Amino acid sequence: MEKMMVGIDLGATNLRIGLVDESYRVVKFERSLTRELVCDGDTLRALGECIERFLDGLPAPEAVVIGFPAVVSGDHKMVRQSPNIAGFDNINFADGLSSRLKCPVIIERDCNLLLAGEIYARGMEQESVLGFYIGTGYGNALFLNGRFWEGADGAAGEIGHIPLYGVHERCGCGNEGCVESIGSGARLVRHVKETYPGEDVANVFTAHPDDPFLDAFLEVLAIPIATEVNLLNPAHIIIGGGVAAMQGFPREKLEKNVLHHVRRPVPFETLRFLYADDNPQASVLGAAYYARRYIHSA
Ligand SMILES: [Zn+2]
Repeated sequence: MEKMMVGIDLGATNLRIGLVDESYRVVKFERSLTRELVCDGDTLRALGECIERFLDGLPAPEAVVIGFPAVVSGDHKMVRQSPNIAGFDNINFADGLSSRLKCPVIIERDCNLLLAGEIYARGMEQESVLGFYIGTGYGNALFLNGRFWEGADGAAGEIGHIPLYGVHERCGCGNEGCVESIGSGARLVRHVKETYPGEDVANVFTAHPDDPFLDAFLEVLAIPIATEVNLLNPAHIIIGGGVAAMQGFPREKLEKNVLHHVRRPVPFETLRFLYADDNPQASVLGAAYYARRYIHSA
């Protein structure tokens, strides 16, 4: 019988859940709001019920893999700290859900799942690829010489929390001066609320292309990318996330800002910018691909 994977992308706004077959076809897909899950305070139970409802009448999957915008434990069982969604910290979702769902459950950083999907779709399994995901926060995934780099504690790639000189704003992680505090979708939303009350943030790049805040914002977004490119010299970088997918997002300006800081002659001459697939099912496909790699390499 065909082995199905369940991929879940638990973002700050949307929860996406998909059933993916061995040929990487999404055979069932649902989207709901994350806040509906966290409203009663018991997120472990609520997530278990959500997955059971989704799988009602279907055989147990080979595994369930769940991506969180969070630091997760090195054993892929627990969410350690989630700066942009309340209600997930220090919960062992893997053990809590696997007995209930009768299959292995793997917890991973959402960015690694997104990058896994891109690597599969583009056939980059042997390469070095960095993913930068500018959404509510500023996410990052590192795939080096054919493997994800997770760090000693599973906490690598927290590029949204590298410090910037002279910045003192408090970040959701508890530190101050992090990239995310001034370079993230959350900061962009705050700017639109303060400067253009009543306007939809989704239109800010098209409605106000000459806003000097946006120029400075794009310079901030470029710093972590240029820094990591100079450090790791990837073959490709992939830029994604809700902000990068917005109407009129000035890709050329971002690329120019990145290249301004990238070391010459290389990687300046060789760096290739790619943009993530904004298909809403991309994250669950990536989750399934990641899960197969994880299970078969364990
Ligand atoms: Zn931070």
